[in-house]
Amino acid sequence: MKTIIEPFRIKTVEPIRMSTREERERLMAAASYNLFNLHSDDVIIDLLTDSGTSAMSAAQQSALMGGDESYAGSPSFFRFEAAVKTLFPFKHVLPAHQGRAAEAILFSVLGGKGRSVPSNTHFDTTRANIEATGAEGVDLVIAEGLDPESLHPFKGNMDTQRLDAFLTANGAGVPCVMLTVTNNAGGGQPVSLENIRATAAVAHKHGKPFIIDGCRFAENAYFIKLREPGQAGRKVEDIVRDMFADADGMTMSAKKDAFANIGGWLALNDDALAQAARERLILTEGFPTYGGLAGRDLDAIAQGLKEIVDEDYLAYRLRTSAYIAERLEKLDVPTVKPSGGHAIFVDARRFLSHIPPLSYPGQSLAVALYLEGGIRSCEIGTVMFGQHPDGTETAAPMDLVRMAMPRRVYTQSHADYVVEVFERIAARKSSLRGFKIVWQPQRMRHFSARFAPL
Ligand SMILES: *Cc1c(COP(=O)(O)O)cnc(C)c1O
Repeated sequence: MKTIIEPFRIKTVEPIRMSTREERERLMAAASYNLFNLHSDDVIIDLLTDSGTSAMSAAQQSALMGGDESYAGSPSFFRFEAAVKTLFPFKHVLPAHQGRAAEAILFSVLGGKGRSVPSNTHFDTTRANIEATGAEGVDLVIAEGLDPESLHPFKGNMDTQRLDAFLTANGAGVPCVMLTVTNNAGGGQPVSLENIRATAAVAHKHGKPFIIDGCRFAENAYFIKLREPGQAGRKVEDIVRDMFADADGMTMSAKKDAFANIGGWLALNDDALAQAARERLILTEGFPTYGGLAGRDLDAIAQGLKEIVDEDYLAYRLRTSAYIAERLEKLDVPTVKPSGGHAIFVDARRFLSHIPPLSYPGQSLAVALYLEGGIRSCEIGTVMFGQHPDGTETAAPMDLVRMAMPRRVYTQSHADYVVEVFERIAARKSSLRGFKIVWQPQRMRHFSARFAPL
């Protein structure tokens, strides 16, 4: 069939409050043109993030009622642990309240001054947790991964030659090698099975543990099935097991590919490392059979992990992003290619070439999407990355607008609506103006900066 339908029926609905353009103009000005300041019930289509925004299934909702809230030894934990180990057969599984908590625990043990941790591209919380210990995060993605026009099928791949050279030069200070699947900070681009195996081999040649940041493991596995020679006939679950077979551990945010609203875990094979991590877990998250989560959350994750590897779901998931990107391309709206799994990235600097980077073309497009259609997206460009600790400002390498797709939440008519909003903006894009920042904090300004239109 040409039409890939949403492989679910809708049993519970959450009404969307429709708003008028006049109303949105007032709300946007009151929010100082920062989309993080909007109340979410003033948003029609919320594409700010795919994190924790998934729709739970009927089976997950009923699993919540089976949650056991005992402090120690809850059956919910053992269901969670069994579900994790079915896909990722690591010896130790430590629950955590979300992905960054798993990272903080891992690097409280492995980090420290003078150390460095290579990855394809560290996600921002991973980098922040590494750097909070005094260590350094190093990104070694292949060159194609940094080129928005490249059509390489696995733009998230590690440059294994550079990794090998890096480990030869800095080996003593490297506690582990990481790999993010899919590469979120690099546009949701996948990593091939061949590259995962090659990265593991280089890490192990230098005697380093190999840890996967597995947040979007199922999307990555489905890209492998679609794009990697010899993988087409295989079950996604088997591909997932192969992806993790050579790894020594993983960090995970269950707010991504586990269909949960909260949760995460750290998994490890090494007994001594796991023991040190467990001691830290008790200090910061909780007893090892709940790790900062309610029993019901553990059950929601256990059920979510069974559902996320469903191939009809994954086909619909990846098709949604590709469908929007293809239609935007026909409107001459440039996007990062090929489209990633969880999000569409629009190249705002190219689309609004009359707005210079320091007038924030990404912010201009994000504001226009809200005013025109009540769509909330996220600027990933000079607003987010242009501010330096010494108070200076420079243009980021790219000015992108990310539209992240919540899982199982929106339908094809929502996607068509998003495209129609772009169509209207494209027709009058030369009238769009840049922005200036009228107030900003010392760091992470994108969350709270106040803007004024130029
Ligand atoms: C979201 C994310 C994290 C952090 O997870 P949280 O649950 O948000 O703390 C880490 N790595 C990647 C790749 C992510 O997408």
